[in-house]
Amino acid sequence: MSEKDIFKELFEVAKKSKDPEGVVAACLVKNGSILALSPSAHDGVRHAEDLVLEIARLKGIKIDEKVILYTTLEPCSYRSPINNVRDCTSIILDVGIKTVIFAANDPEYSQNAKKRFIEAGVNYRQIRDKDFIRKSVELFNSTITIPLTSMGLPRAKKLPNN
Ligand SMILES: [Zn+2]
Repeated sequence: MSEKDIFKELFEVAKKSKDPEGVVAACLVKNGSILALSPSAHDGVRHAEDLVLEIARLKGIKIDEKVILYTTLEPCSYRSPINNVRDCTSIILDVGIKTVIFAANDPEYSQNAKKRFIEAGVNYRQIRDKDFIRKSVELFNSTITIPLTSMGLPRAKKLPNN
């Protein structure tokens, strides 16, 4: 599968989630074939990268240096302790993924995630296709429905156009 076909599959599976904090889809690819894919969860807690690695674990898929993680948004590098889940950068580094390819930038986490992946020797890069990057931003922003806070501000932040 080409990178284009992989992102088409990610956009397709993303339709299954109405993540109120913004939908993201991720998959694991080896030798051009998708091994596992998942959108982020409806509850806004479990992220796509976390879920796709859980699928791999349940299916007994071995993670080696040939496995590439694709995601429509840069992995997060921090989670609020309230959620009781780990950040995706830590989860990805722990399983030994050596290549991470993403579409949209996440201004909130970008610098920290990038630094941690590069320091760990991970090949970390953004795709070049501007249409897919734009589509990933639109996808994320399209499902944000969390009610406004008492201050009248949105709880989940929309992504700016990359
Ligand atoms: Zn995450």
